[in-house]
Amino acid sequence: MKRTAIFPGSFDPITKGHENILLRALPLFDEIIIAVGVNSSKKYFYSLDERLEQIRKVFAGEEKVRVESYNGLTVNYAKSVGANFILRGLRTNTDFEFENLIAQNNKVMENHIETVFMIPEPQFSAINSTVVRDIIRHGGDPTPFVPAAINLNK
Ligand code: ADP
Repeated sequence: MKRTAIFPGSFDPITKGHENILLRALPLFDEIIIAVGVNSSKKYFYSLDERLEQIRKVFAGEEKVRVESYNGLTVNYAKSVGANFILRGLRTNTDFEFENLIAQNNKVMENHIETVFMIPEPQFSAINSTVVRDIIRHGGDPTPFVPAAINLNK
């Protein structure tokens, strides 16, 4: 069986935390699809096209990584691409409470899809896209928090 995982999220923008999870998960899977979720009621800082381009730049050359967008339920998207795993990162208790709930509900909807959690390495665990957006909005330098390959100017 080909081991395909999706790594769903907003990635607004992608950070070194996301990058750390993805790179450490790569040896576990044959393919990981970074799946940028589109939620029509959510307002994003970077457009979908900008986020797809940023993420593709970061993982250019990683043959096992694909970058796509999706609408609707994450489990339905996983099924549509033949993925049996959903990859998520866990930083804090707050992450745990939310992720626990989503993972259990996803399990009821699609029993064969397993959610796999990874804890970031300590130097990445305080990195948060919301904080990175605030830094950019207020003219700060986001480079310590985002992958070296991307240049975020807004
Ligand atoms: P969402 O809106 O779905 O939470 P995010 O882009 O914020 O999308 O996060 C996608 C995934 O990446 C989530 O599982 C989140 O917990 C994880 N993540 C975000 N930042 C980090 C980080 N610094 N370290 C580890 N995982 C992270």
